[in-house]
Amino acid sequence: MARDYYGLLGVDKGVSDTELKRAYRKLARKYHPDVNPDEAAQAKFKEISAAYEVLSDPEKRRIVDLGGDPLENGGGNGFGGFGGGSGFGGLGDVFEAFFGGGAASRGPIGRVRPGSDSLLRMRLDLNECATGVTKQVTVDTAVLCDRCQGRGTHGDSRPMACDTCHGRGEVQTVQRSLLGQVMTSRPCPTCRGVGEVIPDPCHQCGGDGRVRARRDISVKIPAGVGDGMRVRLAAQGEVGSGGGPAGDLYVEVHEQLHEIFARDGDDLHCHISVPMVDAALGTTVAVDAILDGPTDITIPPGTQPGATIALRGHGMPQLRSGARGDLHAHIEVVVPERLDNHDIELLRTFKQHRERETAEVRSAHAPHGGGLFSRLRETFSGR
Ligand SMILES: [Zn+2]
Ligand SMILES: [Zn+2]
Repeated sequence: MARDYYGLLGVDKGVSDTELKRAYRKLARKYHPDVNPDEAAQAKFKEISAAYEVLSDPEKRRIVDLGGDPLENGGGNGFGGFGGGSGFGGLGDVFEAFFGGGAASRGPIGRVRPGSDSLLRMRLDLNECATGVTKQVTVDTAVLCDRCQGRGTHGDSRPMACDTCHGRGEVQTVQRSLLGQVMTSRPCPTCRGVGEVIPDPCHQCGGDGRVRARRDISVKIPAGVGDGMRVRLAAQGEVGSGGGPAGDLYVEVHEQLHEIFARDGDDLHCHISVPMVDAALGTTVAVDAILDGPTDITIPPGTQPGATIALRGHGMPQLRSGARGDLHAHIEVVVPERLDNHDIELLRTFKQHRERETAEVRSAHAPHGGGLFSRLRETFSGR
């Protein structure tokens, strides 16, 4: 017949975990054998501890709520005692109830622990950053041991409670000091805090539940990524000890310098050198824009050195929206350094035609804001 675990602890069926713990601690303080050596009290203590063990375990509590008894048929050791298996959970809580939180009550740390994240660097060129790319990469991480499926045991063998700490994962020492007795605890040296040992460890992983392995995975990099950005691949990182859930794998983008374009966020910049005569007469230059292929840039007649021509929407795509930045062409005007006789003749004719234009000395404080020093000041003050 199913026992009334809720009634034993004096709580209602809908009790919260916190209230459950509080109710158990209150009773444990009353019936613990150290406090109450009476035999009836000891029996009562075992009952309430078993009830707490059952109700604090969601799976077992579900069985109780369905009208069953998780300790009835081979599921545990009933009210008989604490020996073995999950009974230790109850004992841990008794310690907690008596010594409060902190050093004395950490309890076993659990053999199965979550794995850590890992990081992989991927070099991409500007085209790949613009279009996005799917690449095969080889990752070297801990993976679940396929022989023991993470259990760490060989064949059908099972882990056993650690003899040194009796499953608590820590050993305690009482020292006398000026302030009275001080109890300290430290992780058990035999089981390293786990509370159990594996007498016959898996031959492949040595009991760790995981092994190192290389594997190829395919990584999808979205369009618009930039240098230093990280793409997260959930649960592709290191598997934890004891076959614990894998951490995440982060792929960090390292964008290689492009031979033509410099990137500034979603904008691209390039230089175009234009012969003097073309700058004066105007011309068209084809630039191999990253996502658009050969694209004509019109240099209007009379273009000055240092002018910038912007092609709206011909830059990089934005990571989320896909909206495109701009392409900025910075114009350099090239004056011919060597002239042959025919060139000189032509330019002299041109000069005669533009006789009124001569070199002139101008004020460094030109009123239209183009003064040399005001430009320098702007540069230094970052305006
Ligand atoms: Zn131990
Ligand atoms: Zn193994």
